[in-house]
Amino acid sequence: MGDGHTVQETLTLVYRLQTMDVEVLRLTTEMQEAQESVDVGRKNLESLEKQLVSFLKEIDDLETRHRQMESELKETERMLAEGKKRQKELKHARDIQAYLAEMEFRRDEKDRFEEEILKNLESQEQLKKKVSETEHALERERAPFEALAKEKSAQNEERSRRIEAIHQERIDVESSFPSDLLRTYNRLRASHKNGMVVARLLEGTCEACRMNLPPKSVTEVKKRQRIITCLFCQRWLYLPERTSERVAVSEGVGASGESAKR
Ligand SMILES: [Zn+2]
Repeated sequence: MGDGHTVQETLTLVYRLQTMDVEVLRLTTEMQEAQESVDVGRKNLESLEKQLVSFLKEIDDLETRHRQMESELKETERMLAEGKKRQKELKHARDIQAYLAEMEFRRDEKDRFEEEILKNLESQEQLKKKVSETEHALERERAPFEALAKEKSAQNEERSRRIEAIHQERIDVESSFPSDLLRTYNRLRASHKNGMVVARLLEGTCEACRMNLPPKSVTEVKKRQRIITCLFCQRWLYLPERTSERVAVSEGVGASGESAKR
């Protein structure tokens, strides 16, 4: 690579570094998106599981209440039956009145318990339906979620490996970078959209902003005597060589690219 000080060498280096940085940014974004889609799926399952637990708890409470009412109903029925036996022994009008009032109260109680028991059983029935629906939903969604999570995790591991490979390669490229150029690159990278500092000149058009450049600029870029910036987006215009250099730049990012500059 020499000392990297000719315009073309400088631009080639910067472009190479930028290609790596853009790729890392793309991979990082993809990793985040993959993780988010897994999180959404997991939250959905967790919410179904929570619902299931809550339905089962409600059923449990209803069953407890049902048992209570059954025993209270039995007790009321027993008292009603006993009352009937007692009825014949009553002589005084006042006792008979009290007896009738009590019996009426017991019968109301009995009706109330029976009604509540019926409602309780209906509620249990509805909840059991919900439990079954939720269990089916869980069954339906768990396998696809696990497949998705596994796939996304494998893809992200691959992305991590590529990022690590690029990181290693970037250390190599940086070492051949003049330090003032590296500072300029990093500063411009922060100020340009998508971190693009260098744009290829493709058939007279700036790769970044897609504007056609005047012939004078194109001629200047082709001379490769100084860095020409795009009139429209201020990026450095770069004309790749039509040699293996170009291949090395575009393919050098992958895991196999580390030998290109040694
Ligand atoms: Zn431009």
